[in-house]
Amino acid sequence: MSFKIENIRPTVIAGPCSAENRDQVFATAQELKSNKNLKYFRAGLWKPRTRPNSFEGVGSEGMVWLAEVQKELGIPVMTEIANAEHAELALKHGIDAVWIGARTTVSPFTVQNIADSIKGTSLPVMVKNPMHADLGLWLGAIERISASTTGEVAALHRGFSNYTQHKYRNAPMWELPIGLKSELPEVSLFCDPSHICGNTEFLSFVSQKAMDLGMDGLMIETHTIPNEALSDASQQITPTELIELLSGLEIRSNLKDSITDSDLSALRIKMDSIDEQLMELLSGRMEIAKLMGEFKKVEGLTVLHLERWREIVRTRMKWSKELGLSEEFILRVLEQVHKESIKVQTDVMNQES
Ligand code: PEP
Ligand code: MN
Repeated sequence: MSFKIENIRPTVIAGPCSAENRDQVFATAQELKSNKNLKYFRAGLWKPRTRPNSFEGVGSEGMVWLAEVQKELGIPVMTEIANAEHAELALKHGIDAVWIGARTTVSPFTVQNIADSIKGTSLPVMVKNPMHADLGLWLGAIERISASTTGEVAALHRGFSNYTQHKYRNAPMWELPIGLKSELPEVSLFCDPSHICGNTEFLSFVSQKAMDLGMDGLMIETHTIPNEALSDASQQITPTELIELLSGLEIRSNLKDSITDSDLSALRIKMDSIDEQLMELLSGRMEIAKLMGEFKKVEGLTVLHLERWREIVRTRMKWSKELGLSEEFILRVLEQVHKESIKVQTDVMNQES
């Protein structure tokens, strides 16, 4: 089975972050059923939580609910597999397709175990990008899985964890999916705006960007009562809101083939993405300047420390030389950044406490 619906873009995969109980799974699937863009109903069964003691998923019991949705409502179903045991359960219950999560793609050992466990089957698999911005790991996971299943293997872009991010939960870093498409033009490429955003505010913006890049589809987390979701409550939308989001998208069909590394519009998108990251980094630097201002205020220290400034110039000039940047340019940049840091610190020190 193909991941894409013929002649419809975007193909949509929707459903809750987590299957919570049979009623919630059925109610969500029922509401999504009439959406003409919907190809797969998704629900996570084993939730990779950053810290213990939060909802970790209903486990294999949920496989039965998904198989029932598929049988009773006629919607193909998908879930996340994170190890060989999950893969075997998905095959046993006749789950239509699976995805490999970002925390799994980072581990070639686990990806290979999964590949071995589905060897000789025709299970369609979507491979999410790894947590961090490493195109090689993403490509490697796709290659391992492709060598194993005869089913379609597609790529799913969910953004990259980045400690400087403010706007997004995971930085989109569009240059990576563009790089993937250039390496593997035949592989379908989907975007997961829910996990990129971490909230609902930028979902439409990110979905539109994915469409402008010529991506084939979207995976969007959908819950009947998002506020009450047991995981990722802040980023889920209702099935009705999903229809509104989709109807607001502008789909330009002639962009389909333009997502290559050297294309001018792709180069512009890469440049935009890098500038966005630069702004995030500068904003993170100014936040630290504020904290330093507070510290210096409490300790009664002066804002400007000439020794420290000389050290900054010396080290940064060395780093930038190694990166092939012009000394004159970097000195000007550093002076401006330093000037702004001093201003931020002075403002903090002058504030009434
Ligand atoms: C998910 O899709 O619910 C999920 C856990 O995603 P990711 O692997 O992208 O974090
Ligand atoms: Mn989720």
